[in-house]
Amino acid sequence: MTSSHLPRPLLAIPGPVEISPAVREAAAAAPRGHQDPALIEAFGRTLESMRRVWRAGQGEQPFVISGSGTLAMDSAVANLLAPADSAVVVVTGYFSRRLAEMVRRRGAAVVEIEAPLGEVPSPEALVAVLAQHPRPKVVCLTHVDTSTGILLDPAPYAAAARAAGALVVLDGVCATGGERLETTAWGIDVALTGSQKALGLPPGLALLVVSERAIEARRALPAAPPMMLDWLEWLPIHRAYEERRPAYFATPATSLIAAAAAGFDELLGIGVDAVLQRHRRAAGAMRAVWTLLGLREVPTGTGAVAHTLSNLWLPEGIGDEVRARIAARGAVVAGGLLPELRGRSVRVGHMGWITGEPEILRRVAAAVAAGLVDSGLGGDVEAALAAFDETWRRG
Ligand code: PMP
Repeated sequence: MTSSHLPRPLLAIPGPVEISPAVREAAAAAPRGHQDPALIEAFGRTLESMRRVWRAGQGEQPFVISGSGTLAMDSAVANLLAPADSAVVVVTGYFSRRLAEMVRRRGAAVVEIEAPLGEVPSPEALVAVLAQHPRPKVVCLTHVDTSTGILLDPAPYAAAARAAGALVVLDGVCATGGERLETTAWGIDVALTGSQKALGLPPGLALLVVSERAIEARRALPAAPPMMLDWLEWLPIHRAYEERRPAYFATPATSLIAAAAAGFDELLGIGVDAVLQRHRRAAGAMRAVWTLLGLREVPTGTGAVAHTLSNLWLPEGIGDEVRARIAARGAVVAGGLLPELRGRSVRVGHMGWITGEPEILRRVAAAVAAGLVDSGLGGDVEAALAAFDETWRRG
């Protein structure tokens, strides 16, 4: 694989991420009209691919709407909740809190279930809250909260929510395509993401898979949500595209749809399970480097660490200036996002296309290690990279 199409330094924040040459080529082609047969085909194929990646069936409806992950979240809240309703949010970081704030802005009541930084509220904590509070309409979960690096196993929370008669919203913005997802089997009513993360696409698309129950909840709302967010406006358009018929409601981001079709073709060509395994392998190799350097990660619970990014505590005496040193060594990483982590952690993305490109991943690991050593961390970069190689080789 030639990496001549990559910028210097490498983009290793937790999204947007580096994209594959094929996706880049598709995105860079001359824009199609929204009724062009090639665009209709790309749109229809993207929706079919989403069902496979999300592990959803014909009963669920995929939507691709221009916007980012935040728009996908707003769309879930606007279509499911009316001001008289209530929701429970399992908080694992900054983005779960954003979802809770959206619910409040909708005028609905919200109960947030929190845990100390780095920890996940237990499924039992959700069960207890559901027993205390009058039937919430929605339970919101964050698959990977990018601000903490916490991975939440949605299955037991979704089961508890369903048992209480609630709809389940899963924010998969930093997870879908990189962490196991079983939309139908887990009973997720809205599984949403943005294009720029583990799916390895350029930023600009909000992608959602929505259950029939959720569509029914939208139909039952006392007042329609804003038009651009309204699933009932989008439903006939998406059905038409999937049936390869032209349609129009609001202009789709045709270049991004072309990129999405190419990206999903690539992903499904490798296979969903193989792509998830690539993410686990990449995470393992990166973590071998962090361990050798004596670095600690923010998530503390066993099994609760994302495969899509690392959130590393900065050692005593090293602050946010380390990011410029890491960039000088060849990779752009992100700083802490939560107030309690600002200037105290760095976040390194390892998701999407680069998880199948060990040389690129290794360059990211090398840049982080060298930047930290340049900032005063005592450590052996060569030994850390040997640990990367060894862990990668084991698969
Ligand atoms: N949820 C999670 C878990 C995220 O990581 C992000 C983006 N970092 C968002 C929501 C918001 O997505 P966007 O920035 O694409 O609007």
